[in-house]
Amino acid sequence: MRKQFIIFTAIAVMATFISCGSKYTPGTYEGGAPGIHGENVVLQVTVDKKNIKDITVIENHETPGVSDTAFARIPKAIIEGQTLNVDTVSGATYSSNAIIGAVTEALKAAGADIAKLSEGKEVADAVTAATEVLNADIVIIGAGGAGLAAAVSANQNGASVIVFEKMPQVGGNTIISGSAFNAADPSRQIPQGIEDSPEKHYEQTLKGGDNMGTPLLVKTLTDNAYPTLQWLESLGMEFQDHVFTVLGGLWPRAHKPVLPLGTGYLKTYTDYIASHEGITVLTDTRATNIYLEDDANGVKRASVVKAQGPRGIVVAQGHKAVIVATGGFGASVELREKYNKHWPSLANIGTTNHPGATGDGLALAGDVGADLVGLEYIQLLPMGDPVTGSLSGNIEQAVENRIFVNKDGNRFVDEGERRDVMTRALFEQEDTFMWIVLDSHNYPTMDTKNNFNETIQELVDQNRAVMADSLDELAEKMNVNADNLKAAVAEFNSAVETGGPDTFGRTLFQYKMDTPPYFAGGRMPTVHHTMGGIKINEKAQVIDTAGNVIPGLYAAGEATGGIHGTNRLGGNALADINVFGKIAGANAASE
Ligand code: ADP
Repeated sequence: MRKQFIIFTAIAVMATFISCGSKYTPGTYEGGAPGIHGENVVLQVTVDKKNIKDITVIENHETPGVSDTAFARIPKAIIEGQTLNVDTVSGATYSSNAIIGAVTEALKAAGADIAKLSEGKEVADAVTAATEVLNADIVIIGAGGAGLAAAVSANQNGASVIVFEKMPQVGGNTIISGSAFNAADPSRQIPQGIEDSPEKHYEQTLKGGDNMGTPLLVKTLTDNAYPTLQWLESLGMEFQDHVFTVLGGLWPRAHKPVLPLGTGYLKTYTDYIASHEGITVLTDTRATNIYLEDDANGVKRASVVKAQGPRGIVVAQGHKAVIVATGGFGASVELREKYNKHWPSLANIGTTNHPGATGDGLALAGDVGADLVGLEYIQLLPMGDPVTGSLSGNIEQAVENRIFVNKDGNRFVDEGERRDVMTRALFEQEDTFMWIVLDSHNYPTMDTKNNFNETIQELVDQNRAVMADSLDELAEKMNVNADNLKAAVAEFNSAVETGGPDTFGRTLFQYKMDTPPYFAGGRMPTVHHTMGGIKINEKAQVIDTAGNVIPGLYAAGEATGGIHGTNRLGGNALADINVFGKIAGANAASE
């Protein structure tokens, strides 16, 4: 009863002060906030009705010498300015923010309007609100292929790394991808009689994106593709010896990992992380803001990342750099609709992407001034599962050995074309639906797997593919005109003999389609990749809207734009994310 009375009186007194225009309840209050080693800096703050009068240090575990200036300057600045919006001391950002945080806590207890007192002081807010404060040389946002390549490469170059991943697991789109990695690779291509070079890869990549890619970025990609593949091998990753042409890849330079889908890349990187000190990966932790702070030379650098973790706000200070590797926005219907200019509405089209591909990096980097380029270039594949939009269930093995037919059983496009060209042609077909048709050259046994770790037997059992001993029987199961289907296959087979080009201009052929059993699987358009994103230079540094480098900020992978132009070649994504992830990590480490 007595306690209740006191509380009631205190509230009433406080209310009176506030109603009289008072800013604080007079008194002396204590507040604490975590410093550089995680231990609280504790301060005592004395206020009267209107002013902060005095600030005294009660506990200080900060590094002597480094933090002295912060303790000398910041309490003084707070009192002089009667504000929490004071500059941190460069080189002692942590201690500075701890001091500001401790004063904030004390002033909260004094009934202050903290938002008003700290207007414009977002970094301090972030740190004081944090339940966990972390430090590393480099903070990476996103633990897909690009983010983990950057983490490993930074670690190899001596840097400590924190990786924030918003999903419960690492991997992003990379782990569910078809996993083909394009590289001009003499060790595998010469024995297969394939002529290739980084220059040819460059020409095809640039032209395949309608010359809208930035030449220097394309050259960086194609020159580094093979060395980066060898780097992955040096980390223990295994690729098959046989190179092939992946859908829309235009040339047989795709490398298929031994492990299924993108799991080989993820295993390689996570094995490295598990067996080396210095890389911390936090899953379920979504980055929400990047902050620029003054460095020792007064230069504004990307250095703090705020994130929402399972236990609250986590703030990480990247003493050297921040790397954005958040992937694309294929899974965000809102962003697709915002940026799409070249396709019919994509609102009701499926996607091959994981649900986390929501383009977070655009806002994260855009908010600190990054330029965003090529956002209207969205890649669709003609290869989506008709129910889910995913790539699984795709029976294609290699471009050379299959045809596409529509619901009439007729071919309608050069199946070795660019992805955008094939998908556009598919949009013209009845119900935007097609069948992939191939023969047992692709599936010598019923246990043979597709590129998505499914056996052809499983796909037939699940009615995701049909199988027949003759083309007539196949046509019946597909419910297409048998004469049309047989004519399409016959025309294809004669083009295999001559080497083409056939009536659609197709030139990529290998085997005739003449060996039963035959197989067919249905496919529809699906959103696959977003070519646009954060503008970078060849060092993976982020470029602002005025064309200048944003110090300390890097980006890599599908989050970036300007490499693939209007259309990304099949097999170039895995090359891109690994090449630029590795570059970003190494350069960030040498800041
Ligand atoms: P890339 O191929 O460019 O590496 P991925 O899709 O494989 O792209 O990986 C991007 C990763 O970034 C995904 O795992 C995704 O969940 C993660 N990610 C996206 N936005 C955020 C965010 N705001 N905070 C933390 N992780 C994020």
